[in-house]
Amino acid sequence: MPVCEILSVGTELLLGEILNTNAQFLSVELADLGISVLRQSTVGDNPRRLASAVKEALERSDILITTGGLGPTADDITKEVCCETLGVKLKTDAEILKQLEDYFLNRGTSMPESNKKQALVPESGTIFPNKNGTAPGFALEKDGKCIIMLPGPPREIRPMFLEYVKPFLSKHSDGIIITHTVRTFGIGESAMAELAGNYLSGDNPTVAPYAKDGEAMLRIGARGKTRAEAEALCAPVLKELLEVLGDFVYGVDSQSLQESVVNLLIQKNLTIAIAESCTGGYVAKRITDIPGASKVFQCGVVTYSDEMKKIILGVSSEVLEKHGAISEQTALEMAHGVRLLGKADIGIGITGIAGPGGGTADKPVGLSFIALSDSSSRIVEKVEVLRKSDREYNRFYTASKALDMLRRYAQEFNESRKSENNNERRHN
Ligand code: AMP
Ligand code: MG
Repeated sequence: MPVCEILSVGTELLLGEILNTNAQFLSVELADLGISVLRQSTVGDNPRRLASAVKEALERSDILITTGGLGPTADDITKEVCCETLGVKLKTDAEILKQLEDYFLNRGTSMPESNKKQALVPESGTIFPNKNGTAPGFALEKDGKCIIMLPGPPREIRPMFLEYVKPFLSKHSDGIIITHTVRTFGIGESAMAELAGNYLSGDNPTVAPYAKDGEAMLRIGARGKTRAEAEALCAPVLKELLEVLGDFVYGVDSQSLQESVVNLLIQKNLTIAIAESCTGGYVAKRITDIPGASKVFQCGVVTYSDEMKKIILGVSSEVLEKHGAISEQTALEMAHGVRLLGKADIGIGITGIAGPGGGTADKPVGLSFIALSDSSSRIVEKVEVLRKSDREYNRFYTASKALDMLRRYAQEFNESRKSENNNERRHN
């Protein structure tokens, strides 16, 4: 299997002025070709540093793909540096020169002198035409190594890669790489990695943990000659990991937490109503982001003040006075109140302190209570977020917790409970 590196060229990338979307695009496409990407790196428009990055990459890898630095200006030096490194001369290509002149004529201007440099091509190698700009791409092959130089603008590199470079590279590859992502909630990354145990040291498939937005995930990657072969290698490992991780798993591959909640509620024929305080509508927003949410979502209300908790949800003055707005009891009354208001099977109540101010010793920032009420039971959970001073994260994570509570409830829900709910609604 050949290994590949991606070298992004451009000082603007190092300054953070633009996001390196080319590297991501290329990595996805190369995985599809079964070519392993060993490293991605970025270097500025500096000939000396670019030359040393190219040399180093060729020592490690079979294929080097560069992006950027093929333009007409003095700081565009990728072609010159790569050719020099491999000892390949440049020559003017009459056909490309003509195409460049026509390109400018079609736009009603004559070609600037500096663009002539774009008609310089390596004496040996492959040229990839650029249908969306002026800089063609190139492939140079020497001593078993290959450098592919591609332009920087995403709207040029993407079609060029798909139309010309992919077929060119497929001769270097004899397989495909596939990945699956196991998504969990409620377990930390290291605890999840411990459960995944021996699989983490596997070679094909590989299993790697990572964490994002308060969720922990496992990425399983397998390489095979065909997609079916790679899938067959993945399948038993995926099955075992799903068993080991149990109900921490909320989905596999692209499904988000809210998507799995909405799908489960639809499947179990359950409706919900949500009363939020500190999350300010975040749960309702994430649920209604999912197409089909109208089948399950009755209403969401944001009751921020005590008065509105009383008027809209029927939270009692006694509870608010005795236990305060941030309490198990208030969350439970919110959940109950909104379930009746929304004529739903399930009510969710969320109350907490998003911060950064407003915390006390016994009720710190990041503390919240999430309650779930149905016709026969009530559950309440105390949540304490670790990143205490981060208001946005507190709100997001508390919303995730509420979604996860709903997911677990819906997963365990069985139809006999549903008929109890229906009876109760008829009596109301
Ligand atoms: P260049 O080919 O170096 O002249 O790059 C032209 C333009 O392409 C830059 O100004 C950026 O807007 C864009 N560009 C270059 N490299 C990248 C990259 N790695 N990811 C996304 N856009 C890029
Ligand atoms: Mg550049």
